Amino acid sequence: MSFLTLTNIQKSFGPVQVVHDFNMAIEQGEFVSFLGPSGCGKTTVLRMVAGFETPTGGRIVINGQDQSSLRPNQRNIGMVFQAYALFPNMTVFDNVAFGLKIDRLPRAEIAERVKGMLALIHLEHLADRYPYQLSGGQQQRVALARALAPKPQVLLLDEPLSALDAKIRVSLREEIRQIQQQLGITTIFVTHDQEEALSISDRVVVMNAGRADQIGTPFEIYNQPTTRFVASFVGTLSTMEATVLDPAAGTIRIGRETVSLDRPLPGRTANEPINLALRPEAIALGEPGPDEVGLDGQVALSQFLGSVIRTRVNVSGHMISFDMFNQPGRKPPMVGETVRIRIAKSHALVLAD
Ligand code: ATP
Repeated sequence: MSFLTLTNIQKSFGPVQVVHDFNMAIEQGEFVSFLGPSGCGKTTVLRMVAGFETPTGGRIVINGQDQSSLRPNQRNIGMVFQAYALFPNMTVFDNVAFGLKIDRLPRAEIAERVKGMLALIHLEHLADRYPYQLSGGQQQRVALARALAPKPQVLLLDEPLSALDAKIRVSLREEIRQIQQQLGITTIFVTHDQEEALSISDRVVVMNAGRADQIGTPFEIYNQPTTRFVASFVGTLSTMEATVLDPAAGTIRIGRETVSLDRPLPGRTANEPINLALRPEAIALGEPGPDEVGLDGQVALSQFLGSVIRTRVNVSGHMISFDMFNQPGRKPPMVGETVRIRIAKSHALVLAD
């Protein structure tokens, strides 16, 4: 049995159902991200785990214990919110000590625990400061320490980085992951930022309109998306219409060209229209090698961005976008120029409709 299980979770607000049959099993020590666009229900699921919302249906079990009859403060869960919810009239030390005082721990133990927590977030030297004397990133680290101090069995993070500027966001997400691994704490992280989710998670749940569209490792989510929504929400993508010629051999027609993907296309029939989805890193200019498909097109965009040249090529009416590294001796292609592009066959995804 997994450490945290969500079984057939439903949630309606009045007549509107915002979470539909959400199922997930999370292992102890796992870091799972809920990723999806605004309004897809990520926060609502998290708040049900915390006990701030009551599911309209389904069961939440943590460490063998059904949570339905437990209030939030009985669930032994630590939570960090988007806005720094620190107590403004308390020092850093007192903020981190807050949960420990409620738990009535002896004074010496509180001091020891807070010291350990401040060391973990590298803010020992700021123990006597007040929240208004801290940067946004420091405030979120204190919020993290405060959530972790009572040794919760689960840590819930609701977009904890979204109010911070880009550089701090990247360094703090690495720090969060490091601390999570060091403590081995089971964590759910809510974000709408795909790079954030891919970079720090053991597994990602891509949510769409109250449902889990796909659950998988970052590698699986990106390389083997099972729905069109996941494919287009995670990473960038160019799509092309094609027609199946021989599903067993994997031959298809794109425009006037016949190409082979060198793998069977299960569940497809001859003459069936399909959509090919192409990741930008699978595409380059030049003659195709043995494991690549070659297509002719006209350059529609050639934009010099410094380290890369953003390129768009019109292939039979389909715009194919990719970046070329700005390498010595490489000239940006000219708009209108006829070029040949090559596409790695293994990276040409055939999406479910
Ligand atoms: P965001 O990233 O914008 O927070 P989210 O994916 O976390 O989005 P939720 O906050 O879970 O989405 O909201 C899911 C849906 O439920 C939305 O349509 C929202 O308007 C609705 N909703 C959330 N809380 C309530 C509430 N208390 N009463 C009514 N509707 C609500």
